[in-house]
Amino acid sequence: MKINHQTKKVRLFTPGPVELHEEVLRELSRPIEPDYGIEWTSYYNNTRKLLCKIFDTTNEVMLFVGSGSSGIEACIGSALSYDEKILIGVNGFFGERLKEIAESFGLQTIIIEQPWGERLEPQAFEDVLRKDKLIKMIALVHLETSTTIVNPIEEFGKISKKYDVPLLVDTVSSLGGMPVSMDKWGIDFCVSASQKCLGAPPGLAPIAISSRGWDLIKKKPSKNHGWYLNLNVWQKYEQMWEKWHPYPITMAVSTLFALRKSLDILMKDGLENRLLRYQNLAKRLRSNLHKIGLAPYTSDDLLSPVITAIRGPTGIDTTEIVNYLYENYSMRIAGGLGLLKNKIFRIGHMTPTISLDDIDDLVLAIENSITDLCKNV
Ligand SMILES: *Cc1c(COP(=O)(O)O)cnc(C)c1O
Repeated sequence: MKINHQTKKVRLFTPGPVELHEEVLRELSRPIEPDYGIEWTSYYNNTRKLLCKIFDTTNEVMLFVGSGSSGIEACIGSALSYDEKILIGVNGFFGERLKEIAESFGLQTIIIEQPWGERLEPQAFEDVLRKDKLIKMIALVHLETSTTIVNPIEEFGKISKKYDVPLLVDTVSSLGGMPVSMDKWGIDFCVSASQKCLGAPPGLAPIAISSRGWDLIKKKPSKNHGWYLNLNVWQKYEQMWEKWHPYPITMAVSTLFALRKSLDILMKDGLENRLLRYQNLAKRLRSNLHKIGLAPYTSDDLLSPVITAIRGPTGIDTTEIVNYLYENYSMRIAGGLGLLKNKIFRIGHMTPTISLDDIDDLVLAIENSITDLCKNV
C-alpha cells in the first residue's frame, strides 16, 4: 500500500542535507533582522565562537554565505596561483571534487589515489613531498561521504608539519558529528558546511584558517582571484567593519539563526555526548543490518559514526531500494555516488532527531522493501 506523503511525515536519513531539530526549524520563521549593528555583530561573533569550540581551534572562524564547496574554492583559490602545485588525496567522489576545484584554477594537481573504500596512505604522500619541494598545499577529505571512509587526518597533519606544506581538510560531513581537532591535528584550512552534522539548513560554510594558512594567502604571487570567494576581501571587511558588519556581503540571516540554535542545542547536549550518540546509532544500524543479512560497505572496524553505506543484495539496483523506501515508507536515504551508483545505498545518522528506535524502524522498512522488490525480480 502506498503512503500519502501529505499525511505522513517524511523522515530524512540522508547524509545531508539533514532533518532539522524542531527548535531549529522554528528559527526559520523568525522575522528577518538587518545583518548589521552592534547587537547583531555580537550575536554573529558569539556564533562564530561556538564554532571555534567545535573546530577545536583558537583560530577565527569565518562564515561564508554559500555551500561547503564555496568554502573549499575560497581557500584553494585565495592561497594558490595558476600553475602552482597542489597534492590531493583521492579515494572517493569528494576527493575527485577537490581535484576538480583545483583544476578549475589551472593548478598542477598531483594526485595520490587509493581505491574507493580504502583509506588514504600517509606514506605515499611523504614519498612525493620528500622529492618535490614545489608543492604548496596538501588537500584531503576527512570523512569521504561517498564511501564512508574516514581518512587519518592526524597523521597527515604530522607530514604537513614535517615538510612545511599547509594542509587543507574538507570536514564538510564530519564537523560536529565526529572528532575534529584543527589545532592539535595541524590543519591549516578547515572547511565545513551548515547542512550536515552542524544540523542547520544549507547555505553557510564555516571556514577556519591557521596563521600558516594566512601566510600562504599573503605570499600568493598573483592576486587575480576575483572578489566574492576571496579570503583577503573577507579579512579586509572583517577588520574595516569590525564593530557592525564584519563581512563584505549580506549575511544569510535566517540560516544563521537556525545554525545558532542548532549549536546551542549541541552545546547543551555536550559535544562528547553527541558524538557518542551518533556512534551508538552507527553500531545499532550495523548490528541490525547484519541480522537481516546485509553487508555494510566498510568493515565494522572502519565504522563511520555518522554515515553508513550498505551493499545492495545481488540482483537489486540500490536506487530501487532508495525509491521504494520513499514511496512506501516516506523514509529518505541516499544511493551511491559516482563509481558506486546503483551498488550501495547510504544512510545518514548525523542529526539529533534520529533515535535508536528510528534506526530499528528504518531497518525493518529496508527489510520489507527488499522482500517486496525480490518478489518482482
Ligand atoms: C556534501 C559534501 C561536500 C559538498 O558540500 P556542498 O555544501 O554541497 O558544497 C563536499 N565534501 C564532502 C565530504 C561532502 O560530504
